[in-house]
Amino acid sequence: MSFSQKLVRWYLQHRRPLPWREHRNPYAIWLSEMILQQTRVEQGTPYYHQFLERYPTLSDLAEAELDEVLHLWQGLGYYSRARNMHRAAQHMHREWKGTWKTQPEDWLALPGVGPYTAGAVASIAFGTRAVAVDGNVIRVLSRYFGYPDPVDRPSGARALALLAESILPEGDCGNHTQALMELGSLVCTPKKPLCSACPVSDSCQVAFKTKDAEELPKKSNKTKVQAADWRRVLVRHAGSVLVYRRPESGIWAGLHDLPSSDDVRNWGMNPDNVKWQEPVVHLLSHRRLALYFGHWEPANPPAIKAPFQWINEADLDQLAWPAPLRRWLKKNATFDQVK
Ligand code: SF4
Repeated sequence: MSFSQKLVRWYLQHRRPLPWREHRNPYAIWLSEMILQQTRVEQGTPYYHQFLERYPTLSDLAEAELDEVLHLWQGLGYYSRARNMHRAAQHMHREWKGTWKTQPEDWLALPGVGPYTAGAVASIAFGTRAVAVDGNVIRVLSRYFGYPDPVDRPSGARALALLAESILPEGDCGNHTQALMELGSLVCTPKKPLCSACPVSDSCQVAFKTKDAEELPKKSNKTKVQAADWRRVLVRHAGSVLVYRRPESGIWAGLHDLPSSDDVRNWGMNPDNVKWQEPVVHLLSHRRLALYFGHWEPANPPAIKAPFQWINEADLDQLAWPAPLRRWLKKNATFDQVK
């Protein structure tokens, strides 16, 4: 029995009953892959249902307002994914004209779709013979084949892709792709892999030779995490609060934000007089933000310029916010409809 046959047989017996596995609808499968990038299954599943309910078809999503998509995306973080998803839906709707592409190259041309997502959608939705190498697959393959070099270098990525290709079955690859990921999620886990329950342990290089699975995959130097303090002020006047929309690139691109301590200083307030609350720590991929929040209720409204604008406080929940701001506003602003 081949690697793939053993793997798929195990998968069909042990797979989790996830909603995107109940069909081969390319739109829904692509949607699930976009939502699950950098998101755990438990966290992403409710969003998958919400998006399908609000936008049951590709054209529904393509024709939706971006703000509405971002609003629905709140809580998932990495908002560039939501923007890319929306742009990709528009592209498919406009250019593919009601047909689906079955090859990973076509999906790779879409915004927000990298080699992994392209391979995953092509193989899972259409059975195309394509590799999909994500973190789980890298772990399984580097251990199974005993790949000794860092996997986070271009040479490592190329080597893993070739190894993934070497075990592809002939014919429909959908179950094979999902089985490999599922093995990484359930059995070949980062810590304490369950080698005794692994369907391919009899031929696994690590399990048989070194017994040291946790040493793999090897990584090169980790990226340093930078620490930063950010101060945000809830400026209130006559039932409204000051907000602005962040630029379309960079951290929290296109989401709403509150004025910083520098902004309110420019409007004539001394931030040293603000009673700052205990910081809220928020971790981004390469940054550790300590967010300090304070309040200011000026007697006269400050002279603001774009991009700042006054928003009725009761309407704050209509805007898309970064997760830590949304959580703070939920506790500190006079509305209660924020999700
Ligand atoms: Fe991973 Fe162990 Fe299976 Fe090898 S035998 S693939 S290390 S779970």
